[in-house]
Amino acid sequence: MSHAVIIQQAVKKYGDFTALNGVDLEMKPGEFFTLLGPSGCGKTTLLRMIAGFNSVDGGEICFDDKVINNMEAHKRDIGMVFQNYAIFPHLTVAENVAYGLKAKKYPKDQIGRKVEEALDLVQIKNLKDRKPNELSGGQQQRVALARAFVIEPGVLLMDEPLSNLDAKLRVQMRTVIKKLQRRLGITTIYVTHDQEEALAISDRIAVMKEGNIMQVGSPEEIYKKPGNTFVAGFIGVSNFIDCEVDGSNPDKAVLNIKEECSLSCRLKSAYKGKGIISARPEQLFFDDKEGLPGRIVISTFLGDFIEYEIQLNNGQTIQLNEYTKDAGNLRPDGQEVRVNFDIRAVGVYDAQTQEVIS
Ligand code: ATP
Repeated sequence: MSHAVIIQQAVKKYGDFTALNGVDLEMKPGEFFTLLGPSGCGKTTLLRMIAGFNSVDGGEICFDDKVINNMEAHKRDIGMVFQNYAIFPHLTVAENVAYGLKAKKYPKDQIGRKVEEALDLVQIKNLKDRKPNELSGGQQQRVALARAFVIEPGVLLMDEPLSNLDAKLRVQMRTVIKKLQRRLGITTIYVTHDQEEALAISDRIAVMKEGNIMQVGSPEEIYKKPGNTFVAGFIGVSNFIDCEVDGSNPDKAVLNIKEECSLSCRLKSAYKGKGIISARPEQLFFDDKEGLPGRIVISTFLGDFIEYEIQLNNGQTIQLNEYTKDAGNLRPDGQEVRVNFDIRAVGVYDAQTQEVIS
């Protein structure tokens, strides 16, 4: 049965260095949950604590309502898939997948049936008698996947399972994993530093930075409503535009962008001081009359959209994407333009705390 995974105030220290700084997370049974963040933020450390390979220096890790801090790794109800596959080179594909079932002393006929089913699910039934060195990277990762879920664990842990594969295969395999997870309904905790992969595969994502959780939400929430400038910059592309905010009346706040323009918007609560507007490239558009003046530095035609790099008159460089189907002719480099955006669609942040205020 799939477990809920509840992490309360989890701390990990390596000597003087705090790798995890009191992390709180709650994963629901059957959820596909991703830990996402730049290298060194503590993703693997947390996953290894859940697996039982790392000790817990503070706080609690629970499966459902049971604290498992001190439970040995092999007694935890988990399956694990690693970046380097970690399948046994001397065993065939079928023997690799049968390994965990044998260790759990399943009857022989059941083992045969379960292995067949698992190989069928990852579509490598025809390779069952091969050894790992006779397989491609993608096929080896399918074996590792089958081996992990065939024991029907309550929690499946995956640490960057696709990062050794080439770009095209990575995209194919993430769909294989997502479909499989949906079908089996096993609570899955997935570690990656690849934001596109996290958006594509997850039910919910926790974005991490330096041992802290910066935001938890669905891919759509994280992308559309970043809670702080770190998340806005880490997920997708964001243009950050400095402004002065006068939001004494939060319902009618005025944002002034360096002598160029003045906009009004609604804030969550009263704020006065320096602000940052965060706008996605696709939220910016060319405007003949209003908006921030600048000049096209370079345009890049990318099929479904055109990417413009624009130097604003205030010195800032920004990126504007225009969908090809909505665009006229490609604008020439050097063209003087005005760039506008819908203030209600973009995010406004407190320049000091970097937290969202709109
Ligand atoms: P990556 O994406 O590069 O794998 P990560 O987010 O998974 O990064 P961790 O491997 O969890 O990061 O490491 C978090 C921090 O803890 C890093 O600064 C790392 O150097 C440090 N760290 C990890 N393991 C140890 C260890 N055994 N001893 C000392 N420091 C460690």
